[in-house]
Amino acid sequence: MVVNIGRLKMAGEPLSLELAISNRDLALGPSVCTLNRPARAQVRLAVAGDAVRVAGAVKANLEVSCSRCLKPVDWSVNKEFDLEYHPDPVVNREGEEIELEFGDLTVGFYRNEQLDVGASVGEQIVLEIPMKPVCKESCEGLCDQCGQDLNEGSCSCSRRPLDPRLARLAELKLKMNRKQ
Ligand SMILES: [Zn+2]
Ligand SMILES: [Zn+2]
Repeated sequence: MVVNIGRLKMAGEPLSLELAISNRDLALGPSVCTLNRPARAQVRLAVAGDAVRVAGAVKANLEVSCSRCLKPVDWSVNKEFDLEYHPDPVVNREGEEIELEFGDLTVGFYRNEQLDVGASVGEQIVLEIPMKPVCKESCEGLCDQCGQDLNEGSCSCSRRPLDPRLARLAELKLKMNRKQ
């Protein structure tokens, strides 16, 4: 959902929106995460000078992959946000160096008087996804040699390939034992 900031300035009053956020708004591949259904967001846009304040809340139910065993894991996001957007300084000032001084609010930029609010909310969802999600803390993951799911049972691969130097030592020990 792209909002025309010029028109918002002309209207002179805040705009309240109900948005359905789709997978496209997340700008991530389906291998990373997918929304089980479109996420619901309430957003209020208010203009102050050139700044646009985007505040609201979003609820999302996602499916992410366990970083160890790759099984799908449900992940829910329930987040409030308060963001401030400014005109993209490069586009509007043609490369002129300007000192950017903004307050504590998270700052983003909009270009050509347009702000994709769906993408802004999508970003807020993505920020809540852990870097390495796990299905459970004790997940054993997959065997890196045969791919066996170690939560379901062990495989016959040796867990740690023996260091070659240790292997020689073990061989030597075996020989010595035989001599005794
Ligand atoms: Zn797992
Ligand atoms: Zn294995």
